[in-house]
Amino acid sequence: MSERGTLHIKAVVWVIAAACAAMPAAAQQFGPDNPFYVASTLPFQAPPFDKIKDTDYQPAIEAGIAQQRQEIEAIANNPAAPDFANTILAYEKSGQLLRRVRTVFNGVTQADTNPALQAVDKAEAPKLSAAEDAIVLNPKLFARVQAIHGKREHVDAQQKRLVEVTYDHFVHAGANLAEADKTRLKEINGQISVLTNAFKDRLLAATKAGGFVTTDRASLAGLTDGQIAAAAQAAKRSGQPGYLIQLQNTTQQPVLQMLTDRDTRKAIFENSWNRTERGGDTDTRDTIAQIAKLRAERAKLPGFPSFAAWKIEDQMAKTPDAALKLMDALVGPATAKATGEAKDIQSLIDSQGGGFKLAAYDWEFYADQVRKAKYDLDEAQVRPYFELNTVLKDGVFYAATLLYGITFKERTDIPVYNPDVRVFEVTDADGKPLALFYCDYFKRDSKGGGAWTSSFVSASKLMGTKPVVYNVANFQKPAPGEPALISEGDVRTMFHEFGHALHAMFASVDYPDLSGNIPRDFVEMPSQFNEHWRDDPQVFAHYARHYKTGAPMPAELVAKMHRAEGFNQGYALTEELTAAELDMQWHLLPADAPVQSPDAFEAAALKKTKLTLDAVPPRYRSTYFQHIWSGGYSAGYYAYLWSEMLDDDAYGWFTQHGGLTRANGDRFRAMVLSKGSSEDFEPMYEKWRDGKPTIDGLLQERGLVESK
Ligand SMILES: [Zn+2]
Repeated sequence: MSERGTLHIKAVVWVIAAACAAMPAAAQQFGPDNPFYVASTLPFQAPPFDKIKDTDYQPAIEAGIAQQRQEIEAIANNPAAPDFANTILAYEKSGQLLRRVRTVFNGVTQADTNPALQAVDKAEAPKLSAAEDAIVLNPKLFARVQAIHGKREHVDAQQKRLVEVTYDHFVHAGANLAEADKTRLKEINGQISVLTNAFKDRLLAATKAGGFVTTDRASLAGLTDGQIAAAAQAAKRSGQPGYLIQLQNTTQQPVLQMLTDRDTRKAIFENSWNRTERGGDTDTRDTIAQIAKLRAERAKLPGFPSFAAWKIEDQMAKTPDAALKLMDALVGPATAKATGEAKDIQSLIDSQGGGFKLAAYDWEFYADQVRKAKYDLDEAQVRPYFELNTVLKDGVFYAATLLYGITFKERTDIPVYNPDVRVFEVTDADGKPLALFYCDYFKRDSKGGGAWTSSFVSASKLMGTKPVVYNVANFQKPAPGEPALISEGDVRTMFHEFGHALHAMFASVDYPDLSGNIPRDFVEMPSQFNEHWRDDPQVFAHYARHYKTGAPMPAELVAKMHRAEGFNQGYALTEELTAAELDMQWHLLPADAPVQSPDAFEAAALKKTKLTLDAVPPRYRSTYFQHIWSGGYSAGYYAYLWSEMLDDDAYGWFTQHGGLTRANGDRFRAMVLSKGSSEDFEPMYEKWRDGKPTIDGLLQERGLVESK
């Protein structure tokens, strides 16, 4: 997930599993006619989508789990003394069938799902997670890993790193706890999983119940006829009279930008703000307080002072203090800018004789008027200059060719999972094959929301595999025969996702587990970094051409577009920071702290971090902050800001060293993008950058300081 409205998932999962009691029925049906039975014989081991049926996944997953369980047992019970080859390498090579089927299954269930695939997902998810627990908590296996970690007999740097990463993964999961603590850990994990599910259910119910219902059409003034019709439909579907405005997951609601009736804005905002604090089955306060308490206790078992310390240990930041230092440094500039924006809005309210003080629910409504007055930018003016195919070939690919020398050729002979998907073969600067790249840009009902990147096949010298990488997005599909004219945001998404793709395609590592496994606070760096090239004058002029005439975008329109980018950034950064600080404060609680009262805790946390602008509430309030209670971003929401600091810092380095050149691109590829996770991220980045990253670039990009 990104805070720019897109979802990003990298192939960073530890694809490992094992241990189920007996060979399940489905696995017995697994045989040579299953397309996952052997590695694909297509170029780059591309998945044989022309042969894969929905019914092939479940038997292949179950057989994969069983196969890996046997492989893990063989490693754990090997009578020979543990060494790199018979333990770490054997472990690395295990689970190939499971990896093969899971990468394809994950890709298809996200981008082109159906009820049959969803049923398989639901049935297999708990088996996969139990299988993974059985591996990391296998005492015999861990004893071997530990012995090798202690001896460090391995020879080269990547082997050393692989041992470190493997050992840390086991320890992080609780492998070296005493038996009593392991038992307690499993108990806590079970309790947290129950509470997490309760949180999800309550939040879903709260979001539904929090919708704003009215029979007074006049109170919805400002919405378009289409939006009002949709609200009437929504009310009808839920069996209510009149109109229903449903809640989005954020504090601010998109309709607040348009609603002219201040009372309606206030009512909708309050519904949003209090959605999970009304008692009964939609109240999450007790649930999150208990989750926070249990997480702190879980972190204490292996000796960490807080859950945040446990969680951040294997990230680039390494400690909560490092993440806090970044956030604290941003608070002053962000709130100063937001305060200035609030003044502009208050002046506008006063000039219209409003006679009230700006509140959070007024912000978007008046900010939109300020935006129109100041920048006068109409999106319909720019779309004709952004034709998807031209943006892809003459923008996204072109920039990559200039920077890294790689070239692209479309292949229509590789099978795909949906007719919208296109495949390109990527050739390296030296003429050798580098990767396959799939793109699947159009929205459809079978696809999840947002945009993301992942891999069907990861780069690994050990396995002799080259990357097969894909980008997925949700752009509006044009009518047949019409050009796909996309928005400025869509262009940004294409460059963003392709940045993830480049990171995966350039990975030049021996072991599969060192090509993915990118920490959350680093993974968005290559993608956000790649976004910068869309505005590079040479690249922009090459792709932003009128779809009919081929004429370049007029200079005044380009200038207008760039001016509008800095708008409202004080607000945007402050609401993001506020959410990030809340996340961190919750997860800094020590295990012996009492169960908290969420409202009091939230108020104190915001006061402590100096984020107290009434008109700028947190992007998510504690009680509906899905990312941190059920979305995997616990003590990790700071990662968006951390990655942003890095990508702007990296772009600053390029600017200072001649910008878009092959020499700069090749150096960045060699020292950063090709490394996967084969080196510690902080020294890796600092070696390339020749120093520590600073927040200067971020402040400039956000327009919080004057550009140099
Ligand atoms: Zn991303």
